[in-house]
Parts: sequence; structure tokens; C-alpha cells
Amino acid sequence: AALKQIKKLDGTYNCYVTVDEEAALKEAEEVQKKIEAGELTGPLAGVPVAVKDNMCTEGMLTTCSSKILYNFKPTYTAEAVLNLKKAGAVVIGKTNMDEFAMGSTTETSHFGPTKNPWNQEHVPGGSSGGSCAAVAAEECSYALGSDTGGSIRQPSSFCGVTGIKPTYGTVSRYGLIAYGSSLDQIGPVCKDVTDCATVLEAIASYDPKDSTSVKRESYDFTSALKDDVKGLKIGIPRDYFGEGLDPEVKESILKAAKVLEEKGAILEEFDLSLVEYAIPAYYVIASAEASSNLARFDGVKYGYRTKEYNGLHNMYKKSRSEGFGPEVKRRIMLGSFVLSSGYYDAYYIKALKTKALIKQAFDRAFEKYDVILGPAAPTTAPKLGESLSDPIKMYLGDIYTISVNLAGLPGISVPCGVDSKGLPIGMQLIGDCFKEDNIIRAAYAFE
Ligand code: GLN
Repeated sequence: AALKQIKKLDGTYNCYVTVDEEAALKEAEEVQKKIEAGELTGPLAGVPVAVKDNMCTEGMLTTCSSKILYNFKPTYTAEAVLNLKKAGAVVIGKTNMDEFAMGSTTETSHFGPTKNPWNQEHVPGGSSGGSCAAVAAEECSYALGSDTGGSIRQPSSFCGVTGIKPTYGTVSRYGLIAYGSSLDQIGPVCKDVTDCATVLEAIASYDPKDSTSVKRESYDFTSALKDDVKGLKIGIPRDYFGEGLDPEVKESILKAAKVLEEKGAILEEFDLSLVEYAIPAYYVIASAEASSNLARFDGVKYGYRTKEYNGLHNMYKKSRSEGFGPEVKRRIMLGSFVLSSGYYDAYYIKALKTKALIKQAFDRAFEKYDVILGPAAPTTAPKLGESLSDPIKMYLGDIYTISVNLAGLPGISVPCGVDSKGLPIGMQLIGDCFKEDNIIRAAYAFE
């Protein structure tokens, strides 16, 4: 059914970079046999999944939607995808994204933009726009995305689907092509909260191959699927509802908060503060890490190599100049600058100090509240082309999501309405570290 839907719609939406029909059907047959033999019994057995194209899949193209990896077939599979395969999932393809996950619209992809299934003139959000649009268009049953600064939650909100960014360290980053390693997390993009909790339970694991993987006390996320928020304390940061927030989004989020209050949650407004520093701190840290992580793409080890060159250094330079797109180059330059001697303390170290203060502000908030509630994005999906011309405006759109990554917290985006243009709105629920159960509980009760 998913493959049929892809044939019918993907020429229009462009959710996928790669669809491997043959491999998917073969895998499905094998899974079917195991199900019949009673070897696979879990809820994900035989269910087709789409994987964001920055997660390595052995023998299957993994491009990060970049020209520099246009022909890259990894020799191993990312741990999160392996975990899914163990549960009997069938990988049907790899989804489109902003190049190297840098962007908020899926327009920086080398393979052209993905379109929002709710309205083709609008972007699906990003950078996991292909994954979220594929779920919205039913071109898969669920998908994996990655979230460095909002890339699961913001496109989920733009596409009317549900996505979780887990606590940093919960899902292994082994085999996830690094963007900002201290912020990157893989998470599920699904039709509803139940699916999200089920998929998260399958992909989360302690993995010694990822040095930042955390051994958690519990990997049970589905027990939180209870329609009960009585006594749950929800903080609403005033800073999240000020200038720049679209009035229709605001109204819809506050209405959603009311629903939770009517179900017995206790709502209170508070000042989170420091929110305004999140964007500059994030773009310094993420770019610094990206400039280092992307040094490996040099035309030697993988992917694209320029055709004509004069010596090794010229080959590096031309391969990288021709292989990376403009947004990626902008980040590499910014990152190299903030890490260079003389500027390191002024920018990079200062950003790290800001990150620590933001974490402290959240720690204080979680002494009082179980959940923080706000929008996932200040607007609904913009039109295609609008953000490309103004990168700063695009960066400002990350205001509600990136502090969650800086603090390593879990966050979920759940659909909570549509605006007058008929575009979906997402509510974001943020939890304390390792407290996914609280946000899953609140999201489930609301849904
Ligand atoms: N929009 C943010 C950026 O461009 C976040 C992207 C992400 O989470 N991968 O960096």
C-alpha cells in the first residue's frame, strides 16, 4: 500500500530521495515468514518505515540530500535502524531533507524541495521535511527523523503529524551522519502519540558505540499512554507567547492548553527567560560542530570528487566547493570563524556558557512543573521560496525548539488545529531529562 501511494504521489511531493521497492518487498516477505513462524510478534513487525537520508543504511544510498554524498552507499546500518529491523520493520526508502539537516524547510536539498501534502505551494518544514510529509501523505506508516534544533518537531507541526525528540543520549547516534553532535537526536515521526511511543520504545537503547549514549533506568514509553493528566503541572512560558507569534497559532495553542486544564492538569504562566539568547548560542555551537564534522567530506573517502584538478589541495577545494550547497558553506564558514584562535573565547566559549544558563533556567522550571507547553513554531508552513531568500528569518523561526536541544530535553509536537489557510498547527510539550513519560501522557490525553 505504501509503495502504491509513493507511485501515485511522490512525483508531486518529492518526499523520498531513494525508494528501494525490490529490497522492501523482499524484506517484507522474509518478515512475513518470521511472523508466521512466531519468531516476530511485536507491533512493528512488517510495518513499512521511511528513514531520513542522514541515517546509514547498508548498501542503500545515504546522501544527506547533498551532492557531495550523491553516490554514497554505507557499509553498515545505523543502530536505530538496526533496532527497528530487529522488531521486523521494513525499510522502504530514504527521505528528503535539508542538506546535512541544515535548514527549516527542506528547500536546501540537492534533490529539490519536498512539498507540503496539505498545500503544495507550502514547505513541509525541515530539516526532516521528507519524513513528515511522507507520513502525512501516507507514503509510509511512520518515519524516522533527526532533531538538532527542531528538525522533528517543526516539520511535524507543519505537516499535521506527531514527532518526538527524545532526551539527548536516548537513541544511539551511531550511523547518524553528524551535524551538531552535542545536539543531534533521532526520533519517531508518526500519525499519533501511540505510534510515537511504540516506535521510540523500539529505537531507544544503550549503545557503547555512541560515547554519549545513556544507560537509562527504563526504556518503557508505552506505559505512559494513559488518558489521565489529573494533577499534572504544566508551565506556560510567557516568553513563548510574545512578539513574533502568529495570532492564530497562539489562539490554537492556548485552546489546547485549556483542554488539558479541563482534564485536570494544573496550568500556570511563568517566565522562562533567556529564550532570546537561544538562537545565537545555537547557531554558534551547531555551526562550530558542523564545520568540524563536515571536514571528512574531502573527495577522498566518500562521495563526490571534482573531475579536473591540479594536486591534492586543489582537489579538496574543488570537490568541496562543487559538492556543498550555499547553506552548508555558510555554516562551515561561520563555524570555522567562531572556532578560530582569537574568536574562540568571544563566540564559542560564550555560546557554551549561554547553553549552560539555558539548561539552568529549564532546571528551575522543572522544579515546579512536569511539562512546559508552547508552540512548536511561530507560524504555520511558509510558502516555498520565502525562507531561502532570508536565512536570518529562517533561523528566527527556530525560537521555540532549539533551547530544548541546547538543554538536552525531550519534546513532542502534536497537531492541535489548523489556521484559516487550512494549514496545520502543532503544540509542543517539553519534559525534563528522561521524563518522556510526562509529555507522552499529556500529548495522549490531549489527542
Ligand atoms: N533549523 C535548524 C538548523 O538549520 C535545525 C535543524 C535541525 O534540527 N537539524 O540548524
